[in-house]
Amino acid sequence: MPVLLFTYLRNMKAFALTVTLFLAVVLLHAQSLNNIEQKISKQIDADLSKHLELLKNAVNINSGTNNIAGVKAVGQLFGEELKALGFTVEWVELPDSLKRAGHLVASRKGTKGKKLFLIGHLDTVFEPEMVPNPFQMLNDSTATGQGVNDMKGGDVIIIAALKALFKEGLLDDRSITVYMTGDEENAGKPNSVSRADFIQRGKLHDYALAFEGANGMHTAASARRGSSSWKLLVSAKQGHSSQVFGSNGYGAIYEAARIIDQFRLQLSKEKYLTFNPGIFIGGTDLDSLKQKWQVAGKTNIIAPHAMVNGDLRYISADQKKKAWEKMRKIVTSNNLPGSSATIIFAEGGIPAMFPTKGNETLVKKLSEVSKALGYGEVKPGDPMSRGAGDISYIAEYLDCIDGLGAWGAGEHAPGETTNIKAYPLLAKRAAIYIYRLSHE
Ligand SMILES: [Zn+2]
Repeated sequence: MPVLLFTYLRNMKAFALTVTLFLAVVLLHAQSLNNIEQKISKQIDADLSKHLELLKNAVNINSGTNNIAGVKAVGQLFGEELKALGFTVEWVELPDSLKRAGHLVASRKGTKGKKLFLIGHLDTVFEPEMVPNPFQMLNDSTATGQGVNDMKGGDVIIIAALKALFKEGLLDDRSITVYMTGDEENAGKPNSVSRADFIQRGKLHDYALAFEGANGMHTAASARRGSSSWKLLVSAKQGHSSQVFGSNGYGAIYEAARIIDQFRLQLSKEKYLTFNPGIFIGGTDLDSLKQKWQVAGKTNIIAPHAMVNGDLRYISADQKKKAWEKMRKIVTSNNLPGSSATIIFAEGGIPAMFPTKGNETLVKKLSEVSKALGYGEVKPGDPMSRGAGDISYIAEYLDCIDGLGAWGAGEHAPGETTNIKAYPLLAKRAAIYIYRLSHE
């Protein structure tokens, strides 16, 4: 018996040692770059000046969402780059009624590895009639220009990463789709039409990687909140103002104010949920022309009409549904005397990207790449710090990560900037990440 026990213990020891050694090798592999990854990194450095030139050219083409010719021109520019890397390039047209340019799709089909869906967008919030801001280096590390950060910077990072992999023959027999929408900043309505092709193609992949701006190098998004809108309509008895609170009731404006305040009191503490009344009007006559409202009323008339239009942001479809139920209850109960109200929730909107296990695993894998490059850890960012994005449309079908793009500041504002020194670092990180995922 003692001999057997000794052998058993000795075997256990050997087993434990083997496991430890194995783990050490795995860890070592994950925490440093292998030969292939070092070559990828060198390719990024070799082509850096070309990529910055591409960024400058893309930024200097105005591609406000409504500037259809401009969006197509940026698509053409990026499409040529991707064609040269062996991608099949297509332009997805949208019905004329949507008044949008369409989308750029570039794909390579293979039989090996996980299938990747890389997401960018060609449009910016800056329309041609706004003050131009051509690409310009402000100092040796900061560049400004329309969309330099959101998100032509991210688009160029996708191209730079794929080019490095192409040159090393690492795209061969892999399935990668690059999808750059032409209307991310203001999707053509209805979304079910403008995002139909995007969803259909996205579903066919294993992982979705979106290259919207990174908030520095240490966070990536495993979740994004969804967004939709609502409209509150209040009616009340019209009458002489001297009889307000009395026989003529309270009027529509007091009732709308009560409802909005109840929304705030009952719902504003819920984690990840926000709702913002963006427009609030009341009076005797309300009229809307596009998004411009006209109101008539008098100080001595109790207002018979009020309207409040707002948004709602949520982390899951379930949270949205529960918020709708609570809001509806507030709107239809305890109405002030002489008033009644209804609320309309817009169907569609942008769905939420919930922080699933799969999404969090993608952030962990990115963190491994980042550590191997010596950049340090990457953690999931706070969903509250982001708006809604295209990736959310497919979040229920596959594992998703966002925030892989440029590092900058001031998105959607005239002086938008990007950190040019971070550029090669982010491109290397993206290239090695795409390499590892597409070789799983
Ligand atoms: Zn964007």
